[in-house]
Amino acid sequence: MRHIVVVGAGQAGASLVAKLRGSGFDGQVTLIGAEAHPPYQRPPLSKAYLLGEMARERLYLRPEAYYAGQQIELRLNTRVRSIDRAARKLVLPDGEVLYDMLALTTGAVVNRLPKSLSGNLDGIHVIRGLDDIDRLEPEYVAERRVLIIGGGYIGLEAAAVAAKKGLKVTLINHSERILRRIAACETSDFFRELHRAHGVDIRENTKLEALTGEGRVSGARLSDGTEIEVDFVIVGIGVTPATALAEEAGLEIDNGIKVDAFGRCSDAHIWAAGDCASFPYRGTRIRLESVPNAIDQAECVAENMLGAGKEYVARPWFWSDQYDVKLQIAGLNTGYDDIVKRPGAREGAVSFWYYRDTELLAVDAMNEPRAYMMGKRLIEAGKSPGKALVENPETDLKSLM
Ligand code: NAP
Repeated sequence: MRHIVVVGAGQAGASLVAKLRGSGFDGQVTLIGAEAHPPYQRPPLSKAYLLGEMARERLYLRPEAYYAGQQIELRLNTRVRSIDRAARKLVLPDGEVLYDMLALTTGAVVNRLPKSLSGNLDGIHVIRGLDDIDRLEPEYVAERRVLIIGGGYIGLEAAAVAAKKGLKVTLINHSERILRRIAACETSDFFRELHRAHGVDIRENTKLEALTGEGRVSGARLSDGTEIEVDFVIVGIGVTPATALAEEAGLEIDNGIKVDAFGRCSDAHIWAAGDCASFPYRGTRIRLESVPNAIDQAECVAENMLGAGKEYVARPWFWSDQYDVKLQIAGLNTGYDDIVKRPGAREGAVSFWYYRDTELLAVDAMNEPRAYMMGKRLIEAGKSPGKALVENPETDLKSLM
């Protein structure tokens, strides 16, 4: 009987083992996770779950009984120490596991402030796992003052929940604009205005110089020359792919665990998928930090582990919920040189279409699901509608296909 072991029980790991069984694999399957919880969804952590609008059980991707029912051995609370590739063996804190094939779905590790800034102060939070939210949620009390560091998805979603709950929010972004990594100036402008309208004090081009307090954080000195009082701090400054295990095992790393078009690593018995994996994409190599990619890539890898020989074709898309705005992004905007604005069907709705010359690369849609859906279909079909058509609100989007 063959044994497939999957290390990392996040979205990618859970999708991978489910696909193995769904594809008829009847060998032994083991899913190993470092956290105490069965695989759960991360997106609600900085949204509905933090807001208190979602029960914990609903976070779980599947009930625990599913894994037993599918004869998937779930080993939680287990951090793999090392991979012995020659012996095809994993070293665990409490023993060893032999594998015939191994998949690494180790995800990403949250970035923290350097010790020189955070010291040993309490009240400094990150948002990555369920336990982080359980520690953070009691801090979310109306009128308290939170400093959020980082204007990416985490920072902005955490700010939206805080503002909704009546906290006083200051958000700083070290570079010139929020969402710089993700979107164009136009989308940054949209979200800056949205947050300011909800009372969030957004300060761009502003760095943290020091956190102060005795035992617990009570103040922050910022590079704009101000000192503010704070009750707690959220650090949302990105993640780093979790490659340590792979690297120590001598696997090739290139901004993530390097895999080929099929998801195979530089060792033919080892595969990788999700946030930790860098893969070929349109003549270059990328790594995507997104749930849709974690699912699609993991499912493709599962099939390939069983011999399907299918190249993974990424169809990037992302979403974020802030206040009553749903941001949906189709495609990757890397290399764009022009933005076309398309007014939305109702007030406050708009989409931005990214072009490189005449080629459509990506669409950011704010409360415009039709623009998002049509943009996604066009990009996936390799079609690029004329800019004049796109920016004309009278153009029926369906006609663009
Ligand atoms: P992120 O989107 O990469 O944003 C990081 C933010 O921190 C950026 O504003 C960045 O500024 C800033 N930053 C980076 N390094 C910094 C430093 N050393 N000091 C100060 N600021 C710094 O990451 P995130 O918002 O922390 O999210 C973490 C992960 O969760 C990402 O993979 C993200 O995609 C995922 N996530 C996704 C969603 C969603 O899709 N809706 C929601 C939550 C989380 P510059 O870019 O200007 O340098």
